[in-house]
Amino acid sequence: MSHLRSLLCAAALLGLAALPAAAQIGPIAPQSFETAAGPVKITPIYHAAAVIEAGGERIYIDPAKPANIAGMPPGDLILITDIHGDHLDTADIAALSKPGTQIIAPAAVAQTVTTAKVLANGDSTTWHNWKITAVPMYNIVHVGAGGPPHPKGRGNGYVLSYGGKNFYFAGDTEGTPEMRALKNIDVAFIPMNLPYTMTPEEAADAVKAFHPKVAIPYHYRGQDIQKFADALKGSGIEVRLMDWYPGAK
Ligand code: ZN
Repeated sequence: MSHLRSLLCAAALLGLAALPAAAQIGPIAPQSFETAAGPVKITPIYHAAAVIEAGGERIYIDPAKPANIAGMPPGDLILITDIHGDHLDTADIAALSKPGTQIIAPAAVAQTVTTAKVLANGDSTTWHNWKITAVPMYNIVHVGAGGPPHPKGRGNGYVLSYGGKNFYFAGDTEGTPEMRALKNIDVAFIPMNLPYTMTPEEAADAVKAFHPKVAIPYHYRGQDIQKFADALKGSGIEVRLMDWYPGAK
């Protein structure tokens, strides 16, 4: 019996030793990242919705129901990635707007949100101390009989650069060549859910290709995000698992 116990103990120790030191098992929120221009704080709201705070300004990305935005202060900038209801919610955009709020979105979104400044795939713009680059987001292999849920060219992922750091919100996408070719990404927010984006394993494979310093699953409803973390063990990429579905469990 004691022999068995010592075997079990050894197995447990081995198991612990196999965990990468860098991995943090969440939920951990909000996240604060140091930059040359001061800290950038990123807080998940729900699913694909997040708020980014830096330099006394507030940026919302994809505020949409069922995210609970009640009581949240308006944004200085609102970024929208795509036309689907889990990203584009005109009532939430209105609720988080004030005079002077800038909205940046792809052309397909601007058909609905007519005040948005249009940014096309591959283009960049500046907003105050931020540089904002639109990255294509689209399906490659997960295309249903009715066509891909996200055809190339319609939606925008975004690389947000501030104080020398680059934050990537991928949007609803698979591991496209454009994602894989990204350089110098400090923090990457990566979707994983079928049939809309990709599996956790596919997401991990794509992330290995561009090797951000930190990778954070988001837009992962119904998925086992631990599989994403497991697939990146030993890669040198720090995975942070955060709860993007508060109150939904
Ligand atoms: Zn979505």
